[in-house]
Amino acid sequence: MSATLLTAADLSRTYGSRRGLFGAITKVRAVNRVSFSIGAGETLGIVGESGSGKSTMGRMALGLEPPDEGEVRFIGQPIPPSGTPAWRTQRARMQMIYQDPLGALDRRLPVITQVQEPLDIHQLGDSANRPQRAQEMLARVGLSVEQMGRYPHELSGGQRQRVVLARALMTRPDFLVCDEPVSALDVSIQAQVVNLLVELQSEFSLAMLFISHDLRVVRQVSTRVAVMYLGDFVEEGDADDLFAEPLHPYTRALVSAAPVTQRMPGHQRIVLKGEPPNPANRPGGCSFHPRCPLALARCKVEAPTLVPVDQGSGRRVACHLVEPSMSTSNRAA
Ligand code: SF4
Repeated sequence: MSATLLTAADLSRTYGSRRGLFGAITKVRAVNRVSFSIGAGETLGIVGESGSGKSTMGRMALGLEPPDEGEVRFIGQPIPPSGTPAWRTQRARMQMIYQDPLGALDRRLPVITQVQEPLDIHQLGDSANRPQRAQEMLARVGLSVEQMGRYPHELSGGQRQRVVLARALMTRPDFLVCDEPVSALDVSIQAQVVNLLVELQSEFSLAMLFISHDLRVVRQVSTRVAVMYLGDFVEEGDADDLFAEPLHPYTRALVSAAPVTQRMPGHQRIVLKGEPPNPANRPGGCSFHPRCPLALARCKVEAPTLVPVDQGSGRRVACHLVEPSMSTSNRAA
């Protein structure tokens, strides 16, 4: 097992939301007491529908947004407050890849200048060698010398995301948060960028928090996976185990609906009832109960807690049907 790089303990984040100009402010719990850790070189994939709190959690992991409760530690130390010199120093070791590469780049500068910038900002290495290092990194992510001198709008979406990746890697970070990094790209290009990410992760020994609504992509890059629903982790475990045998009813529905090249005989797609509830109006008890095909009377009043199952594997599930002591063979069908 790799050394722990980042730990998040009991992270919560609540926003105020006003309905109309004069409406009362309602509280929206975006992330609800979430805990996890990421080891060096490990990728934790976070999946869930839009509005499940994935992106808020990614921002808190980098210190871009403070939690209302809980704490994030990077290499054993609390993340300094955002914008402070200590935080900026630490940011060299923690980078972020956003969904929209065009928004992440400066349209007025050639991409090679932007890839060199992190070295200038953090005063890393000999200034005379910085252009060459930027060129080498851009070549590593697959750009030609001619493309390096272009402006962002002169590149394709996939090429722009390669530039963003090159820029993020210039400071040789230990930790990368990727927030829907391929969602805005064409499907054919998505595979190329995901493959590149997997290669770079191994080459640079990166730990990653990989956020996506796309199970196929998460499965491809993740060592472990956590499933979020309305701000809660409802299941977490080794990626292969979780996809082979999802335990939470929500995970089962997601996995059953994920596009795959080949289905097992007898596979049935689980179609969930209704839309995810409004986070400002969370259902009582288990927040998944209005859509859960297996809900019990107890589920409407009692929220399940995330408990370890299969001691030693790190698998955790929040569902009244999955008890910590139960073995795989006698779990609810
Ligand atoms: Fe379904 Fe109940 Fe489990 Fe929630 S606790 S997922 S409602 S069975």
